[in-house]
Amino acid sequence: MVKDMRSPAVFDMQTGTNMTETKTPALLDFDNVAMTFPDGTRALEDISFSVHAGEFVTVVGPSGCGKSTLLRIASNLEANTSGTCSVDRDSIGYVFQDPTLMAWRNVKRNVELIAELHNVPKAERQARAAAAIELVGLKGFEDKYPRQLSGGMRMRASLARSLVMKPKVFLFDEPFGALDEITRERLNDEVLHLFQSEGFAGLFITHSITEAVYMSTKVLVMSARPGRIVASFDVPFGVNRTHDLRYEPAFAELCGEISHSLRGAHQ
Ligand code: ADP
Repeated sequence: MVKDMRSPAVFDMQTGTNMTETKTPALLDFDNVAMTFPDGTRALEDISFSVHAGEFVTVVGPSGCGKSTLLRIASNLEANTSGTCSVDRDSIGYVFQDPTLMAWRNVKRNVELIAELHNVPKAERQARAAAAIELVGLKGFEDKYPRQLSGGMRMRASLARSLVMKPKVFLFDEPFGALDEITRERLNDEVLHLFQSEGFAGLFITHSITEAVYMSTKVLVMSARPGRIVASFDVPFGVNRTHDLRYEPAFAELCGEISHSLRGAHQ
């Protein structure tokens, strides 16, 4: 199962066919990236992997191993100290654990925010926001304020806010970690559905091995700090996944292999 990090598992969006041999240009590429914070904390070392169109790559690893730092580098919030991170920063969407909605803006105005900051003309951003709100299932809640929404709905609004910019790559930093299991599984399905319908590639971070396998075309395991990629698992299931997949023997077997690798990474 452990594979060459440079072999992308590419899926045809329509058929769910694994097109692994079809090489596409990387949308996000880490080449020998390392990160040492000014206080000397060495967070990441020797990170090399790519995310291609049609891929949903999830990173799992022990707490504090540098997963968030990896995403912060990809989103330009942090500068790596060596190596290269290549990404078209205008085509990135983000969803973090905290939905960071503005309390004084309703759903519609929150969803328009990033488009507004990018000077998308008003009529166009309103049309895009309406479409994104519908995509994430928040139609009818446009006029509600964040305090009037459930945790899952706030996360949907955060997702819609980034969808408005039609990103080619979506970065997810443990977006569903604070939600109850049923809401989390529902949002897993919704993001998977958007992954197919909107055609973005994903880089996802989670503590949950089940979530990692369910969501991804590939799972990367990171070592304890300084974080390195110690294993890469291609996920062999097609993109049309349903809840019951979590109870299939092949699913459990893959989760077991990743868990085993993760335990080694903790040492
Ligand atoms: P993870 O997301 O895997 O839990 P992080 O990427 O948040 O890990 O952090 C990786 C390591 O870098 C941790 O030990 C953390 O304490 C440290 N770290 C994160 N940000 C900073 C910072 N600004 N300055 C110094 N150390 C930091």
